[in-house]
Amino acid sequence: MQSGKKDQIIIKGARENNLRNINVSIPKKKITVLTGVSGSGKSSLVFDTIAAEAQRQLNETFSSFIRHRLPHYGQPDADLMQNLSPAIIVDQKQIRGNARSTVGTITDIYSLLRLLYSRIGKPFIGYSNIFSFNHPEGMCPVCDGLGTVTAVDIKKLFDRSKSLNEGAILFPAFAPGSALWKRFVLSGYFDNDKKLKDYTEEEWQLLLYQEEIKPKSPKAGWWPSAKYEGVITRFNKRFLDTDPEDSKKSLQPAMRQVVTKGPCPACKGARLNEKVLSCKIHGKNIAENAALQVSDLIKEIGRIKEAAAQTMVAAIIERLTHLEGIGLGYLSLNRETSTLSGGESQRVKMVRHLGSSLCDMMYIFDEPSTGLHARDVHQLNVLMQSLRDKGNTVLIVEHDPDVITIADHIIDMGPGAGKHGGEIVYEGTVKGLMKSGTLTGIGLRRQPALRETLRKPAGSLKVRNATLHNLQKVSVDIPEGVFTVVTGVAGSGKSSLINGVLPRLYPDIVCINQHALAGSVRSNPATYTGIADQIRSLFARANKVSAGLFTSNGEGACPACKGLGVTSMDLAFMDAVVTTCEVCQGRRFKDNVLGYTLRGKSIDEVLKLNVEEASQFFSEEDIVNVLQRLHEVGLDYLTLGQPLDSLSGGERQRIKLATELENTGNVYILDEPTTGLHLSDVDNLIALLNRLVDNGSTVIAIEHNLDVISQADWIIDMGPGAGRDGGKVVFEGTPAALINDKNSLTGIFLKKYIH
Ligand code: ADP
Ligand code: ADP
Ligand code: ZN
Ligand code: ZN
Repeated sequence: MQSGKKDQIIIKGARENNLRNINVSIPKKKITVLTGVSGSGKSSLVFDTIAAEAQRQLNETFSSFIRHRLPHYGQPDADLMQNLSPAIIVDQKQIRGNARSTVGTITDIYSLLRLLYSRIGKPFIGYSNIFSFNHPEGMCPVCDGLGTVTAVDIKKLFDRSKSLNEGAILFPAFAPGSALWKRFVLSGYFDNDKKLKDYTEEEWQLLLYQEEIKPKSPKAGWWPSAKYEGVITRFNKRFLDTDPEDSKKSLQPAMRQVVTKGPCPACKGARLNEKVLSCKIHGKNIAENAALQVSDLIKEIGRIKEAAAQTMVAAIIERLTHLEGIGLGYLSLNRETSTLSGGESQRVKMVRHLGSSLCDMMYIFDEPSTGLHARDVHQLNVLMQSLRDKGNTVLIVEHDPDVITIADHIIDMGPGAGKHGGEIVYEGTVKGLMKSGTLTGIGLRRQPALRETLRKPAGSLKVRNATLHNLQKVSVDIPEGVFTVVTGVAGSGKSSLINGVLPRLYPDIVCINQHALAGSVRSNPATYTGIADQIRSLFARANKVSAGLFTSNGEGACPACKGLGVTSMDLAFMDAVVTTCEVCQGRRFKDNVLGYTLRGKSIDEVLKLNVEEASQFFSEEDIVNVLQRLHEVGLDYLTLGQPLDSLSGGERQRIKLATELENTGNVYILDEPTTGLHLSDVDNLIALLNRLVDNGSTVIAIEHNLDVISQADWIIDMGPGAGRDGGKVVFEGTPAALINDKNSLTGIFLKKYIH
């Protein structure tokens, strides 16, 4: 039964999470941008309602045989939804995959390249499969196509100033007294009190590399039929040649101490065997081409003039050009997807869809501007417009004013976050939004200005001749005791310098990044900030029972879900499916534990309070202080028990920031702290960073947001371009000086923004 206009997605009575029974129509085949403060309900509408229902209905169309194998989605809480299209979500989750997943394989460009080599490569060696490093006939036999090998670092495994009796072998499994250690001291080959540095070359070889032999005159206690073999020989067999998943988890930290990963000596990282590498086009084998940065590969492929290859050449160049167009021209096809940042992952996924010929789909983007310099946002807009022009509906959750401007339609959510949000406060054109009184409207009309007084540095962190990744012998002094912003286009080398080089030189640096937070799957804001312990003792005291009952992995936990509240099913080909635990209905604890209350609320009800509600519920000073800091970083709407792995990258970064606010004298590095923040919250963030500095810390942030850049004491601009064309410091100085530097792209954009 379809009614209403076909050119609109119609939603009536949506109530998921904080949505207040809202009605909304979204034009199809247009770009709709959703704005609003963090926690206002944008994701609840787009992901939890629209995308979830589209996916559920799509699954319903499959036969019951397949349906049983698909995740079961509950029906979102809404009265009516009409005219949906199948949804494709392009988010910032890292691309799942192991070391065999690369930019080339994930975009399918590598398989086109294989096809090309199988057609016109010289000499012709076989079908396109053979060019795959995941295929037994193509892979390098030494590293099995991984390009890297793990090996023991001899310097780290042995302390040569010691004897065997003194514990010269540093790996715990070989500690004095262990069975493995006895294999050496009882072998009869060594003077067990002789320091290893005094060993003859022969003894050293025997100790390290000897293959299995029967020892000549072993000492008492030797096992009758046992053979002797060297430490390294044994170590490799026992710890390295086994699947890392199999070797004991408890050994992993010790393994990391003595084992290093390096390029494979046979293929030098090319991953393929000699025969495959001998096949060339214009003098280059497939691995050499996969190692070129995309912008160079475009030129290389463009040189191929063979008539038989022109269709393939055109297809490869089209996709490479998409990568370049979206600001990823500095990546190479052989780059492992696991090393990409969130923003890079999202853009790589986007390229995969741009090559698709499906139309009338619904594409949903989550802050696509993340990680992009003002210069590249324009290209991103062009790509999203081209998706629309192919006949797709595009929904974008975004805070960046430059992306907001391309909207055909705006849905502004608010007015506040959590229970103060969940409504649509403005709907219509961008022009109308600019004039509206909503927080977004006001934010867009703001008049930015530079700070009048700047702080004086108290010293500096010195980097000399850094060469990590694309850095071109970078030497730079980063001032201490002030707020420094590191700018530059994506791929210019900002993270290589700040996240890569700096912490190696100064290990005391505190990284407040968007990576997963340390902790278990049971971690949540309460456990992460430490207030969970206090809450448990409050419950214990109020009910005169043991506090352990209220730990979610303890004796009081629901046995079915082990206190997680959800059960998850791993599907090989999709993200894992998580469903509410049927036994406890997501309440995590056994019924009797849920019967204990604190001021009228059960442990489950307390964990469901958000930060704002919890601040009213608790009066204990320690707890209130922590909640106050969460409030200050704009996380009022988070519930105490929300699993940390459900938080976005920006939220994770801000929760880490909250735990640091009262510390003094540290060096902090942050990676795009404005990610996920509404225009109106950026000022709060800047105030927090200033507070850290005023408390005597040094703050260094990588950032594209022009408001943040304008408020820095000091700017380091990387560039001039990306990848090979970047890796230099192109400007160091104050924001005022940056504006007048015509050579800095960032300066040009900042100048436009300020004036
Ligand atoms: P936005 O996308 O605008 O940042 P969300 O839709 O993520 O906002 O959040 C809106 C409200 O719904 C917030 O109060 C948030 O804490 C709550 N919320 C979001 N997801 C969940 C969830 N899985 N469980 C409980 N509450 C949630
Ligand atoms: P930015 O932070 O400015 O976006 P990056 O420091 O991430 O820039 O990247 C600079 C260069 O280093 C790029 O050419 C990028 O491809 C390369 N690079 C970054 N990380 C890695 C990595 N883990 N492995 C290989 N190359 C990398
Ligand atoms: Zn190899
Ligand atoms: Zn349960």
